[in-house]
Amino acid sequence: MIRVRIAPSPTGKLHIGTARTAVFNWLFARHQGGQFILRVEDTDVERSRPEFTENILEGLQWLGLIWDEGPFYQSQRLELYEKAVKTLLDKGLAYRSYETPEELDVMREAQKAQKEAPRYDNRHRNLTSEQEAAFVAEGRKPVIRFRIENDREISWNDMVRGKVTWKGRDLGGDMVIARAAEGSEVGQPLYNFVVVVDDIDMQISHVIRGEDHIGNTPKQILLYEALGATVPEFGHTPLILNSAGAKLSKRDGVTSIADFRQMGYTAEGLVNYMTLLGWSPPDSTQEIFTLEEAAAHFSFDRVNKAGAKFDWDKLNWLNSQYLHNMPVDKLTDLLIPYWQAAGYEFDAVDRPWLEQTTSLIGASLSRLQEAVEMTRYLFVSEIEFDEEAIIQLKQEGAAAALKSIHETLSSTSLTSESIQEIIKQVVKEQNVKKGLVMKSLRAALTGAMHGPDLVQSWLLLNQKGYDRSRLERAATIA
Ligand code: GLU
Repeated sequence: MIRVRIAPSPTGKLHIGTARTAVFNWLFARHQGGQFILRVEDTDVERSRPEFTENILEGLQWLGLIWDEGPFYQSQRLELYEKAVKTLLDKGLAYRSYETPEELDVMREAQKAQKEAPRYDNRHRNLTSEQEAAFVAEGRKPVIRFRIENDREISWNDMVRGKVTWKGRDLGGDMVIARAAEGSEVGQPLYNFVVVVDDIDMQISHVIRGEDHIGNTPKQILLYEALGATVPEFGHTPLILNSAGAKLSKRDGVTSIADFRQMGYTAEGLVNYMTLLGWSPPDSTQEIFTLEEAAAHFSFDRVNKAGAKFDWDKLNWLNSQYLHNMPVDKLTDLLIPYWQAAGYEFDAVDRPWLEQTTSLIGASLSRLQEAVEMTRYLFVSEIEFDEEAIIQLKQEGAAAALKSIHETLSSTSLTSESIQEIIKQVVKEQNVKKGLVMKSLRAALTGAMHGPDLVQSWLLLNQKGYDRSRLERAATIA
């Protein structure tokens, strides 16, 4: 049975890197008919926050990365970890170690002076019971360390990177698996250890996670062996890089799924893009697909070793494809929260007007958020004329043409046809160029020289009753 998991730590909002790892886990599970499990790694009490957990679960759901089991919370599983620490102590594979922070500092300084890599020198590996008793009498609090033999060689066949080999001596000495904690016999179990205990308990068959975890894997393999468990398969997915080729980080601005969502990326577009961050489908001409479609073809053979550069243009293009092909009512539903957040006022009876507005701009959107600026002139009663518009309104003949249009308006009900008629008439009557009339109308009605279709805009403004006052005001600018 294929069982994979995503194991986010709730120390921040759902990060694009974690979400992309979730995508690959999900695709692999679906392709193989396996299970996708969600585990919240909240053992770091100081940095974990319930609102981050909420953000992570909501983000995964929004993206459509629905899990089959969980969420399991590590904070509720402490007994299991304590039992496993005891097992290792009983087997003699772990021991209590009593160095003070000062002693460890002295040790590291000495290593630095010798230009050696920092490592624990295993000095408390073989304490006698008298030595231990003396440390305890001094009031020292122990940590629990797991033995790592220097001459061990650890290798695995990584699903992405092929054969990877580490030497025991490069793992930093006997590792701390639990830290001293009040009220606990074995202390507070630490990350590398609890991950293994959980992955064993949850029968995880394939551990698929970011490349930044690759240095943990040899230690974890030793722990699997020590706990008498089968070692799972490992796959380390390439990092997401910024345009400078460095790991995408908070400094690059947008990194959380909530940020992308707020900017107006659709769940479908974003998840489609993440699928392509490090994986390419067998038919490389196909770029637009749902998660289900990607799952049908997904395999680790086509996951790159090299880091995946984040490409905003590609993301914007993909997202625009989803927006352009979306039915108007659905797109309107997605746009409403953006219009509301911008403070635009409308109510349920405005639905047909909102849908017409959506139709007007839908084909030019690459992000939902862009609709806010694009449609401002339709929602707010007072607009500003920009510089270009003012220049246009000052053209000879502009004011007269607008005045004349304003006068005809009171006796006409507006349709696309009557608009054409009005324009024709003004051109004739005022003896001006059609271009002048059209441009002046655009300037007057929208406050700018570029924007969505003029006739449709006018009809929408007319429904709101905004067009007359704008024409009147614009005519006074000249
Ligand atoms: N909790 C770890 C993280 O958020 C993931 C651990 C793992 O996948 O093994 O980076």
